[in-house]
Amino acid sequence: MTVRDIDHFANWLTDCGAEVLEPTSEWEILRVRTSSGLLVVHQNRKGIQTWPSSLLDIARSYNAGIKLALAATRRRRKASKTYQDYGALVRRDGNGCFFCSTIVASPESPVPSDFACTVEHLVCIAHGGPDHLSNKFLAHRKCNEIAGNLSAPEKIKLRERMRAERCGQ
Ligand SMILES: [Zn+2]
Repeated sequence: MTVRDIDHFANWLTDCGAEVLEPTSEWEILRVRTSSGLLVVHQNRKGIQTWPSSLLDIARSYNAGIKLALAATRRRRKASKTYQDYGALVRRDGNGCFFCSTIVASPESPVPSDFACTVEHLVCIAHGGPDHLSNKFLAHRKCNEIAGNLSAPEKIKLRERMRAERCGQ
């Protein structure tokens, strides 16, 4: 079970933004820093492997060909700002995406990159919008990209259209 080719898996983890580290003992076959923390796979003398459960979840996505957003270190500061906003916005609005209304997972949880949590400004900073919670909402990365730099009324129209499409399914 788990993954057939650990080196290939390690390359995939790197592609997803995780940091593959040098093993610190002969019993470690994989040591990786991810958005879910530092994860280590051990292998004993008999070749039996021990996987942390969050890495098993990640391996399931790998086996299914679903790319994840796993960066931990470089984006930490930004992620923690997003994380603070996430908490405040969930308390205010609940955890639905502004556009499509389906759940936006916490910035710390591993999800397919299209569905990663982003904090979007209703009135873009580029259009003079304030960088304040009253001008922010939660959205999936994918939905946010569709909205791009639309004006606030256009974003609200897009939101109505996306929600109507979902209801029509
Ligand atoms: Zn969405």
